[in-house]
Amino acid sequence: MASSTKYIFITGGVTSSLGKGIIAASLGKLLQSRGFSVTIQKFDPYLNIDPGTLNPYEHGECYVTDDGAETDLDLGHYERFLNITTSQENNVTTGRIYNNVITKERKGEFLGKTVQVIPHITDEIKSNFYKLGQDGKFDVVITEIGGCVGDIESLPFIEAVRQARWDLGPNNFLVIHLTLIPYLKAAKELKTKPTQHSVKQLLEAGIQPDILVCRTEHHLPADVKKKLALFCNVQLNCVIESIDADSIYDVPLLMKKEKLDERVMTKLKLSSKQNTELENWKEFLGKLKNPTQEVNIGLIGKYVSLPDSYKSIIEAFTHAGASIECKVNLRLISSEEINPDNLQTKLDDLDGILVAPGFGERGFEGKIETVKYARENQIPFFGICLGMQVAVIEFARNVLNFEKANSTEMDPETPYPVIALMEEQKKIDQMGGTMRLGAYSCDLKKSSKAYSAYGKTKIQERHRHRYEFNNEFIKEIESAGMIATGKNPDTGLVEIVEIKNHPYFVGVQFHPEYKSTVLSPQPLFVKFIQAAIDKKIK
Ligand code: GLN
Repeated sequence: MASSTKYIFITGGVTSSLGKGIIAASLGKLLQSRGFSVTIQKFDPYLNIDPGTLNPYEHGECYVTDDGAETDLDLGHYERFLNITTSQENNVTTGRIYNNVITKERKGEFLGKTVQVIPHITDEIKSNFYKLGQDGKFDVVITEIGGCVGDIESLPFIEAVRQARWDLGPNNFLVIHLTLIPYLKAAKELKTKPTQHSVKQLLEAGIQPDILVCRTEHHLPADVKKKLALFCNVQLNCVIESIDADSIYDVPLLMKKEKLDERVMTKLKLSSKQNTELENWKEFLGKLKNPTQEVNIGLIGKYVSLPDSYKSIIEAFTHAGASIECKVNLRLISSEEINPDNLQTKLDDLDGILVAPGFGERGFEGKIETVKYARENQIPFFGICLGMQVAVIEFARNVLNFEKANSTEMDPETPYPVIALMEEQKKIDQMGGTMRLGAYSCDLKKSSKAYSAYGKTKIQERHRHRYEFNNEFIKEIESAGMIATGKNPDTGLVEIVEIKNHPYFVGVQFHPEYKSTVLSPQPLFVKFIQAAIDKKIK
């Protein structure tokens, strides 16, 4: 391997959900602050080609990149922490690996050989490990291996990491193992055994972790660290404590305090190009933790029992709220439980209402009721994707009196298909990767709320949907007071609708939440929170 790129692999042990994505993103942030160009990729062990076909209850939200890849939500953390964009290359699943290998086999590329997990699958995994590092654009590529060490399905990834050490050479390769040190209340003790076992499993697979990052609810005493170092065969100063934090955004600073970045740089023989001390990051945290005002915002959706389904929206509120020193109390409310009888009580104390993206009929009528309530009671409203479509349908039904107006997604026979499929979408018979995906341009009307948020007429936002505003109805809808204030300059598709006589009523066909980062909060979220503050003061 000729490239000088350094590769850091992050594996997980003991249990899932320890936050490998946050640790990867935090380390990335620290290395970035020392002047290195960094990217992070995630390798997921499941067989879906990508998470686009997964129900959000399986793995949380599907995150969409500029290039239209449907990816794991951890890529959202990478973008939000590092202020970078990621792409299809940054998320690879076992399904994609096998698909590639089988396609090559059908083309005869293996020249009569028996195609096997080792070396063919592992070679394919490794060539994907190295893709982003190849052109020298990045000093460091961090690779998060999804799942837990010991899972049958992650074995080929772990084997590929083992082999990568020899491809890359000693100072270019590093393994960080993220693990849990449980606290037994009854014994008042932190236990190291689960970590010893998970490191043993890594060792059986031929991998010696260089650094242990230990998730814990209590500080690790010196003797516990010593024990971990001894039994897991790592240097004492490479046992890093990762104590539970109030906010995920504290983690980079906690990791800096624990010198994770220094240990990594020593092992990879890297010396700092700069040291910015993360000033903007600290400023953001200061504002996040010392708000001067607060608002209640309702997020109305159908996947509310798993907040990870709305990860990017929740984080976008954190970034936008902090930027104007406002604490956003986000209430996740199930649209299935909303009906005309309980509407008032459910939504009464809200200063703003967001109707979330979604698919299918379940909870749809509750969303219609919610939009009606926000529109009639002059409550700041923000509709995202399906939320925008619902706003259009509600307007058609209740303002234009288009009885049974609907999206053809919910009612293919509707007499008023105000939201409908585009011609190109009608021919599609495969579900995976076939929606309108990724970044598209949008031109804004200068008189719009959207323009006042962005402060420019040309924007780009990311999409993930099949159905569109049906331009056959645009005249009637606009003359009744709902205006298309953002359009795609190439296709004329309506991307934003706003209602004129309302303090803040904005529906967007795209997903603005995907582009919100700590250092650049999304303008529509900022405006919406501001509108909620104004409503509250009134
Ligand atoms: N179900 C709608 C569509 O496919 C909206 C999708 C979404 O909210 N992401 O167009």
